Amino acid sequence: MLKNLEDVNTLRVPDPEKDQPLPQILKAGSLLRREFIDRVFIMGRVDQGPMALTAALRGYSQFFLDLGEEKNGPLIERLLDICVEADIRYARALREAGAHGTSLGELGSDTISPAMYRKLGLPRLRIFYAAMQEKRFPASLHQCGNTAAVLSDMVSSGAAILELDPRTDARKAKETTRKKTTILGMVDPANVLERGTPALVQEKSREAIEILAPGGGFILGPGCALTPETPQANVEALVECAAQFGRYRPDGTLLGR
Ligand SMILES: [Zn+2]
Repeated sequence: MLKNLEDVNTLRVPDPEKDQPLPQILKAGSLLRREFIDRVFIMGRVDQGPMALTAALRGYSQFFLDLGEEKNGPLIERLLDICVEADIRYARALREAGAHGTSLGELGSDTISPAMYRKLGLPRLRIFYAAMQEKRFPASLHQCGNTAAVLSDMVSSGAAILELDPRTDARKAKETTRKKTTILGMVDPANVLERGTPALVQEKSREAIEILAPGGGFILGPGCALTPETPQANVEALVECAAQFGRYRPDGTLLGR
């Protein structure tokens, strides 16, 4: 935790090779790569976007109070710069450890205003995704909740994939991202994948495929983190649906059943 915002200049970017527990996660990435070679996509999640990491360092309530005071502006900007540097360094280490891609979870418009997102978050997201593109490392962006208010901004971040929560309107999401980026989602992780039956998973997966898959740019998956309570049968139903209903003709239309 960063108790005083003024202490920002005492912070240093963690070394993922030395500062625990990051080396353990890199080790896990290497083991997965060694065991699975290229049979599965290993997502080495950096996880906390610059604003989310800043909020975690200050405590969420304190971060929102910080934002309310104009004099804090330069210190918050400095803290965000350090956080994006930490994100980039960790992502590069995950890539070297064997991950096939990475992701950031960032504060979305359910948490902060679109204006603050554009002023504080978006410039750093652009720096992060430009650094990932330079290394040809696929990187996704997730924001919990309804992202409609900042969806075009998310596209403009340069993220290769947007992991969208089911609270965002799927048709609007498809319209905004078509031929620009890829959507991963948008099956409800709580009400469908955790608490639903395999039949409900199939129904909702088919619905997602029908709306989001035409023309490509879609990966079927949960709209947010899966809970540990998610039944295996539901995960299998999701994977089967992608194989069964998510195949394309060369022109980008769906093959169907
Ligand atoms: Zn989420």
